[in-house]
Amino acid sequence: MQNQETHSISEPQASQQVQPQFLFKSLSDKYEKDNIGHGKGVYISTYGCQMNVNDSDRMYALLEMANFTPVNDPEQAEVIIINACSVREKPVHKVYSEVGTYRKLKERNPNLKIGVGGCVGSQEKGKLIDQQPLIDFVFGTDNIDSLPEIVAKSFINPNDSVIETQFRHREPYMVETLVRNPGVSTFVNITKGCDNFCTFCVVPYTRGREKSRPYSHVIDDIKNLMQRGVKEVTVLGQNVNSYKSECGKDFADLLEGIVLETEVERVRYTTSHPKDFDEKLMKVMAKYNPRICEYIHLPIQSGNSEVLKRMNRGYTREEYLAKVNQIKSILPNAVLSTDIIVGFPGETEEQFKDTVSLVLEVGYETIYAFKYSPRPFTKAARFEDQVPEDVKSRRLDELLAAHDQWTREEVKKYEGQVLKVLVDQFDDKRNSLSGRTTQNKNVFFLGEKDLVGKIIDVKITKAFPSTMRGEVI
Ligand code: SF4
Repeated sequence: MQNQETHSISEPQASQQVQPQFLFKSLSDKYEKDNIGHGKGVYISTYGCQMNVNDSDRMYALLEMANFTPVNDPEQAEVIIINACSVREKPVHKVYSEVGTYRKLKERNPNLKIGVGGCVGSQEKGKLIDQQPLIDFVFGTDNIDSLPEIVAKSFINPNDSVIETQFRHREPYMVETLVRNPGVSTFVNITKGCDNFCTFCVVPYTRGREKSRPYSHVIDDIKNLMQRGVKEVTVLGQNVNSYKSECGKDFADLLEGIVLETEVERVRYTTSHPKDFDEKLMKVMAKYNPRICEYIHLPIQSGNSEVLKRMNRGYTREEYLAKVNQIKSILPNAVLSTDIIVGFPGETEEQFKDTVSLVLEVGYETIYAFKYSPRPFTKAARFEDQVPEDVKSRRLDELLAAHDQWTREEVKKYEGQVLKVLVDQFDDKRNSLSGRTTQNKNVFFLGEKDLVGKIIDVKITKAFPSTMRGEVI
């Protein structure tokens, strides 16, 4: 089998100031004209972070333009794509085992094409096909816009594997948002990649160097999405706080611009980096509250300064706590959440206890805690003092139990309160609605379908750590 080069779609240079509509049209013209898909069914299996979910939506949109047909069942597909994250767990093994489940489909239909993309594609490249010959094509996070061409090549030369995983480091980040069914609330990418090189994280290797989208493109995207009924956007990036536009606007400027230049009702963002989260941003959030939502995901990773140093996080426990106190004084109603790694190499029992104490001191209403797992290419994977698996598991249980006990009591404060909820879903089986508060709480209540898309008052009748029940008033 031979590897093929595929042609990149040439993207315009930043200095050309091309508008998103034009970019969208150029992709749409290209693929609609080529009719690459001929109606073939495509199924995408996604696991990983929000970035990956967003990427899968983009893949579907691009393939639809090229006349492929999205299907919900791999049995109906002629193209199956696994879009896999490599940040946690054992993603490559998951990919191999999922591909194995399609063996019978491939035996039944030798023309079935199986591809692997996302961070696992960027990371493993051609090794995936060497290990699992059922895979026909592999592509990376920077090659999604070439996907219709990659799939087409795979059909044209069925005996050749197609591998396209190169980064486009020198090209500006000019892609526009492609969302098939945006609904009430949707995501808009503003940055990609990361330059921080935390010692546990594979993202700089699988998503490349950090790039920011042009300011005017983000604004125009949001205006376009609003015309399609979107009321709320979450701007997305590995580290949104280091956004820097070509015209010198930083992240706080961008948020302010979204509020002033569009009429979008709510703006959220994720993810922040504590070292880059600054007072200017806090003040912009306070000034435009509630249109800028009072919810901040601020990953701490560890509550011990020595561990943070070995993680290369760029802040100490004390600096983080000082920032949290500043947030609490400027944004007294802000709700905080965080990410935590337990059992980082060398983490002692005392250092772990610092994490538990920090979690309780900050008062996060939600934590996303994981056991450390070594990732390829990363420094920490080569650290010698790895923590045994049973110790990691025990620490994770202890942390989750301590937080659960705290948050169960804490969220009771919401019971009896009347909160503004943006209704985003109607469940016709239960005749019930759901939506989110500005503090990112999911609320379920009874009501009519025509409330979807509206911001309404809901009285909270029961509050649980991650969801709430209420009634429309
Ligand atoms: S800031 Fe650190 S953890 Fe976050 S994506 Fe970048 S390298 Fe990974």
